[in-house]
Amino acid sequence: MTIKLDPWGAAIPENYSRVMGEFGISPFETLLQKIPNPHPLMRRKIIFGHRDFERILNAMEKGENFAVMTGLMPSGKMHLGHKLVIDQLIWYQAQKSDIFLCVADLEAYSARGISFEQSRKFAIEEYLTNYYALGLDLERCHVYFQSTNNSVRHLAFLLSKKVNFSEMKAIYGFSGESSISQIFYPMIDIADILHPQLEEFGGPRPTVIPVGIDQDPHIRLARDVAARFKKELGFILPSSTYHRLLPGLTGDKMSSSRPETAIFLTDSDAELEKKIRNAFTGGLPTAAEQRRLGGDPSKCRVYELYIYHLMPDDKDLLEVNELCRSGKMICGECKTKAIEMMKSYLKEHRARYKRALPKVKKIVEKI
Ligand code: SF4
Repeated sequence: MTIKLDPWGAAIPENYSRVMGEFGISPFETLLQKIPNPHPLMRRKIIFGHRDFERILNAMEKGENFAVMTGLMPSGKMHLGHKLVIDQLIWYQAQKSDIFLCVADLEAYSARGISFEQSRKFAIEEYLTNYYALGLDLERCHVYFQSTNNSVRHLAFLLSKKVNFSEMKAIYGFSGESSISQIFYPMIDIADILHPQLEEFGGPRPTVIPVGIDQDPHIRLARDVAARFKKELGFILPSSTYHRLLPGLTGDKMSSSRPETAIFLTDSDAELEKKIRNAFTGGLPTAAEQRRLGGDPSKCRVYELYIYHLMPDDKDLLEVNELCRSGKMICGECKTKAIEMMKSYLKEHRARYKRALPKVKKIVEKI
């Protein structure tokens, strides 16, 4: 029996569908049937929108080459929200895509004042090693640092010829106080997105960028710029997919600067237990009420951990959903289950991380 799962109640939250309507993002759901083995994030509508993903599907169907591009900002620690993109990269790697992974050290310097040396350390210890431990084969990825990639910087300068300040100001809201590095930086971003299509990196081909909806302005600019250089450089408009942002454990936004909102991949058992115990849930004020009336998993941050990370099997998820709604399981028990699952997940992850670190250091030395 196929389980039809819509763990969110309404298909797409209103604020997302408004943005989709306004900026012409298409629903992802309509493509699902055409994807032979969709990632659980696709099936569960966490990836909810796209631009031109048909082009990627076409390439997948015909066994043709396509690229995936993403970046990491080496500041702060890696949390479960960051993991969403890596889960997708692992899936794309299994579909034989060419993966480009940019360490945005120029952005870290321009936006946060982080030195290139610090960025390198953060990138290795907090991000790339975790990626490797999660299962991404970095040796089959094009990993690069923005500060040492001449092709990207050269392309950024070239592309900037056809972008003016008014356009940048309208998108990014620059003011007289903005530094020139901040104003120029989006061109580096656009060059990151388009450079896999340069001849030296494989030439024009379908490229997809998996992002959160908040990143769409970059995608729109990249597509506009690609169209302006279509004749000269033969660019194909990049495709994109949009995933929901994993909400914070406390009920508001997840943020690296507020550790109580996020589970970091390096959290100790005691830290993660405390965070899950304090998480916002869809439970009722007393155990008796909840046993009688049931809880509401659609409002619950613990349930989101199950959806996004802990339960890839829809059957298990559906079971938790039913136990919660019927009041047969209450929040204390449910949190204990999530804590145990997360502890065992992170225990294995820590061991994989330890083994991965020297390998990743060697890989990065060669970049
Ligand atoms: Fe959330 Fe579990 Fe409580 Fe339901 S029982 S509201 S899923 S913590």
